[in-house]
Amino acid sequence: MANGIWKVARMAGKILAKKMIQATVMINYQCNCRCRICNYWREPFRSLPPMSLTCAHTLAEKLKPLAPLAMCLAGGEPLLHPNLIDLAGLLARDHYLDLVTNGYLMTPDLAGDLFKFGLSEISVSIDYALAKEHDAQRGLEGLFDRAAAALEYLAAKRVKPEQRVRLVSVVMEDNLDHIEPLSDLCQKLGVKHNLTLYVPGRGHGGQPADLSAVVKRLKDIQKRKPALLIVPGYLEGFEGRGRAQCRNGVNLMAIDPLGRALRCIDRVDKPAGSIITDDLKVVLAKLKKQALENPCNRCWTSCRGVVEPLLYGPKKIKNWLYQLRAIRSEPIINPCGHGLRGGGD
Ligand code: SF4
Ligand code: SF4
Repeated sequence: MANGIWKVARMAGKILAKKMIQATVMINYQCNCRCRICNYWREPFRSLPPMSLTCAHTLAEKLKPLAPLAMCLAGGEPLLHPNLIDLAGLLARDHYLDLVTNGYLMTPDLAGDLFKFGLSEISVSIDYALAKEHDAQRGLEGLFDRAAAALEYLAAKRVKPEQRVRLVSVVMEDNLDHIEPLSDLCQKLGVKHNLTLYVPGRGHGGQPADLSAVVKRLKDIQKRKPALLIVPGYLEGFEGRGRAQCRNGVNLMAIDPLGRALRCIDRVDKPAGSIITDDLKVVLAKLKKQALENPCNRCWTSCRGVVEPLLYGPKKIKNWLYQLRAIRSEPIINPCGHGLRGGGD
């Protein structure tokens, strides 16, 4: 309990001081999917070895001065990592640990273990409401059904009310009609629905041509579907409104399987150094310099898109009120449908 309060207080202080608050840790690039919208299953990424346990130990130690970070374990497909549970246990101690998966390899036991080892949020990616289209985009037959089953296992295996399960969809040129049915699926499964805008140049996808129309449509869906959660400032940023200069490198960073620090997962061109072998303060200073001296506005993904409206954008209070509602605790429901524990404990 004391550790929980300490984490919340430290995070609040870091947010107020606009420090480094978020890190995406790519623990392996290997993946069982062949998504149109991704490069990680291609060379040169796929040949990089997964993060070793030695590297994860050092990472956990070296990142302690930045704790707690909102840390997201990602890939590639993180469930393919041979030491996922050990690695998650190491990093969850000091940080808020999330994980994003395509869901294919999730089992009820693994879902339970991940939550027992301290994961705060687990997201499963589904982009289309029809199995045929989702499986085709991701290049893996049977994926839709297994991803939906993964959401069910995860929803049933939370051990604390503050743990969250999300379905996350990439908004692309051809899946807008699928968003509302996917929010319905979330409602049915008792999970929430997040969106992220496709990153131009990542794989061979496309963004919707008329982003103003997309914003209008999504606002409309949100009115009917409470499962669909989008921070207002993030949604408005789809069409450029209220977008600040990208702060990846200042408030957010990415770490690759070798422990190299990057501004974000898409800027692998210039690592700012190694968290493992270099001085952390020097690496952070280099990341900040990259961000401030070489501004980038290539994408509007949900990682930068949620943090920037909360820290810098207009209407910060409105965005914070929404975000706090979006991440509030939800009671654990047992298989008979009775709440076991309230949101306040
Ligand atoms: S988008 Fe995710 S699931 Fe698809 S190939 Fe890339 S890492 Fe794998
Ligand atoms: S705009 Fe996108 S690609 Fe550019 S640094 Fe920010 S997050 Fe990375």
